[in-house]
Amino acid sequence: MKCPKCQSNNEKVIDSRDTHGDWTRRRRRVCISCNHRWTTTEIPTEMVNELIALAQTHLAIEEAYRDVFGKSRGVLDKVFGR
Ligand SMILES: [Zn+2]
Repeated sequence: MKCPKCQSNNEKVIDSRDTHGDWTRRRRRVCISCNHRWTTTEIPTEMVNELIALAQTHLAIEEAYRDVFGKSRGVLDKVFGR
């Protein structure tokens, strides 16, 4: 996997743990070239597709709310904690 900071392919996993009730796996990675550290999350593709469908549903709700009330309720902000 490329380093998101310097695009080097020279990285290694330094920690790995199951998360979200063991449905996902997080890996802590470090770039050998620039020492940048970042986290990746492994998730079953079926679940990614469900999450995309859920996000699209929320987008549709957000758009409908905007159409009716002329403003955003911030549904996505609440869902994703932004
Ligand atoms: Zn790097």
